[in-house]
Amino acid sequence: MILDAVREKTKLPLIVVNTHAHYDHFFGNAVFAEAGVTEFWAHQNCANEINERGDMQRRRVGTIEPEMAAGEGDNVDLVMPNAIVRDQPVLVDLGGTVATLFYLGRGHTDGDLLVGTPSTLFVGDLVEQGAHPSFEDSYPEEWADALLHISALRHRYEFLIPGHGQPCSDQFVKTMASTMTTAVRQARQSIRDTPSDATKAIPVLPYGPEQSRWFIKRLQEACSNR
Ligand SMILES: [Zn+2]
Repeated sequence: MILDAVREKTKLPLIVVNTHAHYDHFFGNAVFAEAGVTEFWAHQNCANEINERGDMQRRRVGTIEPEMAAGEGDNVDLVMPNAIVRDQPVLVDLGGTVATLFYLGRGHTDGDLLVGTPSTLFVGDLVEQGAHPSFEDSYPEEWADALLHISALRHRYEFLIPGHGQPCSDQFVKTMASTMTTAVRQARQSIRDTPSDATKAIPVLPYGPEQSRWFIKRLQEACSNR
């Protein structure tokens, strides 16, 4: 589907960027490989995660793509990223225009890669429009910082494309950043006040109960790893 949409725009050779190691962002690599793509970019941590645990994410596909879930059928093999970004930005010459691939530290996952072109910033699931953010593999405190960073960069780009949903305004990113910063503060307070039951913070957090549970869990893990 993505390939068809891209092919409506251009017949030029393609490269692929995996913004992070969630199945809905890299299981399609095989389709692009079959269409002749040889260059698959990702952050080092994302590439490691796909290598080590990518296959385990098949169960999350469920009934949407039964062949992918079972690993049987056309284009169901995992295609690993083979072009790696670490902490330094990488410029990719697309011929007539340059894309900058860069990392702002941990956030939605530990390997979120952003793509900037002269007009557009693609931020993966660091920003989601139309749904609560997902915190399962996240680092909430660092994510809030990354959002502030994105917000500060926003004026350089005409468009900001989130990992899901519609293109986002400057204000949307600012709000998401300040909401998460406040939520980190609230949840930390609650973890300090009632370490035995930090889930007490769930009703005050600005996310759904499920996301809030993960939010608190990930914050607690980050605290205990310090
Ligand atoms: Zn994701």
